[in-house]
Amino acid sequence: MISRGRFAPTPSGALHVGSARTALASALAAWRDGGRWVLRVEDLDVTRAVPGAVEAMLDDLRWLGLSWDEGPDADTPHAPYRQGERADLYREALDVLRAAGRVYPCACSRREVEEASRAPHGAEPVYPGTCARRDPEAVLAEARAKGRGVAWRFRVAPHTTVTVRDAIAGTFTQRVDDEVGDFVVFRADGVAAYQLAVVVDDVAMEITEVVRGDDLLASTPRQVLLYESFGARVPAWVHLPLVMGDDGQRLAKRHGAMGIRTLRERGVSPDTLRGELLATLGISDAGDRPLRDLATRWSPAAVPRLAPRWSVSANRFEAR
Ligand code: GLU
Repeated sequence: MISRGRFAPTPSGALHVGSARTALASALAAWRDGGRWVLRVEDLDVTRAVPGAVEAMLDDLRWLGLSWDEGPDADTPHAPYRQGERADLYREALDVLRAAGRVYPCACSRREVEEASRAPHGAEPVYPGTCARRDPEAVLAEARAKGRGVAWRFRVAPHTTVTVRDAIAGTFTQRVDDEVGDFVVFRADGVAAYQLAVVVDDVAMEITEVVRGDDLLASTPRQVLLYESFGARVPAWVHLPLVMGDDGQRLAKRHGAMGIRTLRERGVSPDTLRGELLATLGISDAGDRPLRDLATRWSPAAVPRLAPRWSVSANRFEAR
């Protein structure tokens, strides 16, 4: 089986040092045994999409010397490569889950969920299961009468423990019913949730290995449950430690100075940046060799476990 990897950015902001590094790592991973590298634009959430952001992002990737085998501008077999154009697939997947009794409609508002949650730790409260115990037809009828949409939640059975084996993060175990609860796969506004869309797309695009930032490690067990309910093969996982700013915080939009656009304007050359990024992935002598060549002697095991820190003033990574 030919290996297939992907880079799946959300165009909510510009490409920055951290996302460029994820892009490079996912390309190296896909090419290390001659596989294909797919670029998928995760523009599901139209409210977060910034006009022109997709084009700017593609341009920054090209500037860095990255060329994908399949992506939004290529007429290849798994098109379209923008989630905004794949809504029918997500609907069909929801129908499959409904027919299998894996999901139920939920009419709770975000506030109700927050107020009723047992363990409001982190950003996401654990859903207390209010609508899980109700008659689905009654929930749908009530929502219709109020002119409101319903969300669809995946029913997580009691004592659901999922263990993920990750090439960098190691073994990660989550008790999904306790730590996450029944999670939303389709939102009340009729848009697929990230968890569902990402799995539907990775299955449809035949992705064999997922490389991404370790901020998504905690989402992985939910995704494993979805793969299993579709009877699909679970891919291999590689979660990279996220790039930090020199303030020790994870890269975020407030670190505008780490945007690839800004670095270009400051005169940083693509080769220099590429060399910096490759060094954080364990390739220190890249020179100007093509990525596809470098990939053949790379493996995720080469990635240092310590999160790299980007120095805004020096336009490079700090030596660690
Ligand atoms: N679209 C997600 C993001 O930009 C990444 C999804 C994934 O790689 O699974 O954070």
